[in-house]
Amino acid sequence: MFDFMDMGYDESSAPIASGPYIPDAGECMRCGLCVSSCPTFRLFQVDEETPRRRLRTLSKILVENQPVSSEEQSHLDNCLQCRACETVCPSRVNYGELFDQARMQLQVKPGWLGKLAFSLIERKRLRSLLIPLFAVYLKSGLQKPLRKTGLLTKLHLAEAEGLMGKPAVEALAERYPTSATKRGQVALFTGCIAEHFDRETLLAAIRLLNEIGYEVLVPSQQGCCGAIHQHNGQAASVLIDNNIKVFNALNVEAVLHTSTACGAMLSEYKNVDDGAVQLFQQRLCDINDFLLQHWPDDLQLKSDQVNIAVHEPCSQRNILKNSAAVYGLLQKVQGLNVVTLADNSICCGAGGSYMLSHSQNAGQLRALKQQIITESSADVVVSSNFGCAMFLTNDEGKVVHPLVLIAGHLDM
Ligand code: SF4
Ligand code: SF4
Repeated sequence: MFDFMDMGYDESSAPIASGPYIPDAGECMRCGLCVSSCPTFRLFQVDEETPRRRLRTLSKILVENQPVSSEEQSHLDNCLQCRACETVCPSRVNYGELFDQARMQLQVKPGWLGKLAFSLIERKRLRSLLIPLFAVYLKSGLQKPLRKTGLLTKLHLAEAEGLMGKPAVEALAERYPTSATKRGQVALFTGCIAEHFDRETLLAAIRLLNEIGYEVLVPSQQGCCGAIHQHNGQAASVLIDNNIKVFNALNVEAVLHTSTACGAMLSEYKNVDDGAVQLFQQRLCDINDFLLQHWPDDLQLKSDQVNIAVHEPCSQRNILKNSAAVYGLLQKVQGLNVVTLADNSICCGAGGSYMLSHSQNAGQLRALKQQIITESSADVVVSSNFGCAMFLTNDEGKVVHPLVLIAGHLDM
């Protein structure tokens, strides 16, 4: 059996703070409380795949300024950055931030595919050129024959191609006025990929906001939140600065996000201008929270008798910590039988770009989650993170954002 304390840790190799002091990385007590919360430990059952062993590596990079072996690097790369370890750590080790700092320090150079992905994320114009081409490709019937050639697998594009559904190619409008009595004005953060591939959720959000009396602004100059860049050792400051500038310029009550992974990143923005970040974050709000707080007493939804299972994304459980809002919103539909998906504390494997970069590990975690979904006998599974919903959707069922379900029960 695995012994939590048997990690071959040599006290003589304890971190020597010769570099700048980095809080937390050297403050791990090696208590092991984080081990069972870690999805990679669940997969591999070895100490190298635990948060505390990764913290040793992070400490080596950030505190000792030592090179790391390729083996240490590979165990570090296996991390999904789910941050479940942070929530159980008695030393409150700031694992996510340390991980990002270390990746940045290692100056990881992306391959051609990574470069293409970063360009797509950064450049709206490139997306608006390539996404219609992808839509044409899906319509053309070329999908099956191309898959058969094995070319997509050779180019490492098979995973991404298999996950993507039909994209929305038209841009969203900049303003969605309400026809109800106007209560205020809010802005919607759309995300980069979600803007095209999760249009259903964005339209459900706009519809619900309009219904409760809010005009919705969707500024076209907004861009990616920067999470994929930051978690992969790339500078995200240009993306961060742009979003802060664009949303701070608007006269709105709140800036709302629909996907929790983007929301988690937006909520942790840092910038040289503290005042600008403060203004941005003061108005930032998860859409589930906003709708619940502003739900009118007289707004009734159609009742329904279906079994709903709630998947709680890691970004929602471990960073935003607002899963309760989803359950509160679902209660607005009379008759729903809402249950929490078992084992919600363990990551589904999506992990942002992890589902593409570590497809084997991700696939194993997804299989565990899908088994749990099957056992739940749910008619519908809801998730507030687009990446998880896309990754968990299969032929047996689509995972949808709770807003899609709620908006579908508006009496129109
Ligand atoms: S729970 Fe915290 S202090 Fe304990 S081993 Fe894990 S990271 Fe270290
Ligand atoms: S962030 Fe998640 S995968 Fe990474 S060490 Fe912590 S628990 Fe494990």
